[in-house]
Amino acid sequence: MKLLKDKIINEGIVKAGGTLKVDRFLNHQIDIPLYNEMGKEFARRFKGQKITKILTIEASGIGIACIAAQHFNVPVVFAKKSESVNLDGDIYTSQVYSFTHEKEYTIRVSKKFISKEDNVLIIDDFLANGRALIGLIEILEQAGATLVGAGIAIEKGFQQGGKVLRDKGINIQSLAIIKEMNEEQIIFENDDEFL
Ligand code: 5GP
Repeated sequence: MKLLKDKIINEGIVKAGGTLKVDRFLNHQIDIPLYNEMGKEFARRFKGQKITKILTIEASGIGIACIAAQHFNVPVVFAKKSESVNLDGDIYTSQVYSFTHEKEYTIRVSKKFISKEDNVLIIDDFLANGRALIGLIEILEQAGATLVGAGIAIEKGFQQGGKVLRDKGINIQSLAIIKEMNEEQIIFENDDEFL
């Protein structure tokens, strides 16, 4: 998606350790017209598929998922990363190792909100090693729900997550796939795309 790639080129900052900082438009300050276009593009890519819910993970996935959900007309459920008195009753849990925080944490979703009748699209901001996606997929497996696919804003194609999950047959649609990046330049896959 050209609009997102241009934003990454113009406003993204490559940090040491293979992290891309996109806090000017994606996950701290948020560019709402960009989110709207991303939502439309997810809707285009998953058009015609039966989707009953969108699942994401707090915090950065929530905004993207909510704006995208307006194009799908379905509720958004987000996995919580901390225990809460409001998270009562039965819950699905899974362990996720965080790329950015370098630690493992538990994600939790109330059993009330995902069931075996659901056809679920996962949405998240980044795909790196795939740990967040795998954790969310495990929750869907516990629920007996059907995974439709995953919509990702930025995939770091030089890390393994995308390949591992596509090899399992999962439909992963990433709006910008970074092939290589360093302090001087960011190179995308499909750099000839105009839309
Ligand atoms: P994964 O679980 O695929 O290794 O990493 C995905 C999660 O880590 C995303 O939910 C995202 O929050 C975070 N993440 C991974 N790589 C980056 C990055 O380069 N920049 C930022 N800002 N977050 C990242």
